[in-house]
Amino acid sequence: MSRNQELFTAACRHIPGGVNSPVRAFKGVGGTPIFFSKGQGAYLWDADGKAYIDYIGSWGPMILGHAHPDIVRAVQEAAVNGLSFGAPTEAEIQMADKVCELMPSMEMVRMVSSGTEATMSAIRLARGYTQRDKLLKFEGCYHGHADSLLVKAGSGLLTLGVPTSLGVPADLAKHTLTLPYNDIAALEQLFGQMGEEIACVIIEPVAGNMNCVPPSLAFLQSLRRLCTEYGAVLIFDEVMTGFRVALGGAQALYNIKPDLTTLGKVIGAGLPVGAFGGKREIMECIAPLGGVYQAGTLSGNPLAMRAGLAMLALVSKAGFYEQLAAQLNTLLTGLQQRADAVGIPFTTTQVGGMFGLFFSTKSQIESYDDVMACDVARFKSFFHLMLAEGVYLAPSAFEAGFISSAHGHTEIQVTLLAAERAFAQLA
Ligand code: PMP
Repeated sequence: MSRNQELFTAACRHIPGGVNSPVRAFKGVGGTPIFFSKGQGAYLWDADGKAYIDYIGSWGPMILGHAHPDIVRAVQEAAVNGLSFGAPTEAEIQMADKVCELMPSMEMVRMVSSGTEATMSAIRLARGYTQRDKLLKFEGCYHGHADSLLVKAGSGLLTLGVPTSLGVPADLAKHTLTLPYNDIAALEQLFGQMGEEIACVIIEPVAGNMNCVPPSLAFLQSLRRLCTEYGAVLIFDEVMTGFRVALGGAQALYNIKPDLTTLGKVIGAGLPVGAFGGKREIMECIAPLGGVYQAGTLSGNPLAMRAGLAMLALVSKAGFYEQLAAQLNTLLTGLQQRADAVGIPFTTTQVGGMFGLFFSTKSQIESYDDVMACDVARFKSFFHLMLAEGVYLAPSAFEAGFISSAHGHTEIQVTLLAAERAFAQLA
């Protein structure tokens, strides 16, 4: 038995499903999850010592690759001065200033410890600010696991085939409205019917939890216009896209100013971090200034702030995102050519440093229905063939992939060679 299998058996004794987050369990692809012992640059090593080129990057944060020396140093230097104080530190001011500078729609920001906390708090804030209850989200979008958001959600819920979670009271779920992504007509109709009851709209400005589905610009623009017209708070959930698709996030890329933004992943450089912020007038409704309560024992943690600041300094360097996107484009173009060469229906999506792979007869993927129509069985086979070749892709047909600045020419070429062999076997 491999060490991986031994560890999985041991993990299942006291950890539900052997994992601390569901998609890790490989339910979407079958087989035993890989237990990792080390990461460096573009590579991960499993418990049996096998190396993989990593295209998950801890689901987005590791945009510089694993164990980047500047980040590790920042954490070590912070650690010797104490791990947590539960009191203010100067690093939090630096972080808030930096985030508001890089994302000018954010006039104030509060740090939390996960993406879930960020979205949950932003929604409570929007409801408190508007004194309305209804929340609109889009089918296949995942915004963390707060009750109101586990309705027709993406990510692990799609992988496990239960898009709406048990345990969410119907009395609460009835306040969550859902619409198809990228559907302007449906949006206008809903706002026409009940726009004045809607407290907020939360959206992944690039959907990354039903695989990677880019938005249409007209859709985001309609959303902005309708929210303004009806007084609903527009929340861009940039937990995944923030500092991933561009330095200023998707809002910079598409030039749309949300009222509130949620962040996580890259901003914490791999430490448990989230943030939410936006218009001053709305943010001043948060305790201790206002009546919307929100708090956190570890919020603004000194290690996380130092790691995040080191990360933001590195990704702010000129050309960082252009280089990242160009490298990813080389990979995706190469994959397309190799699939085409053996006649496998296949297409890809890319926004900055995130991507989607689809075994689909459609050349453009624009909706949840497009994603659902893909050949999941073929994806599963592809995933396992690539894994055997030492390429670690997201273990689900419904998750986006991520590249890092540590993925160089060699890693891309090795991945393409592996894919060529995998496609040949699938044909
Ligand atoms: N929002 C989005 C867009 C996400 O992708 C995620 C996590 N994948 C979350 C929120 C929740 O973040 P966390 O897992 O840190 O709670």
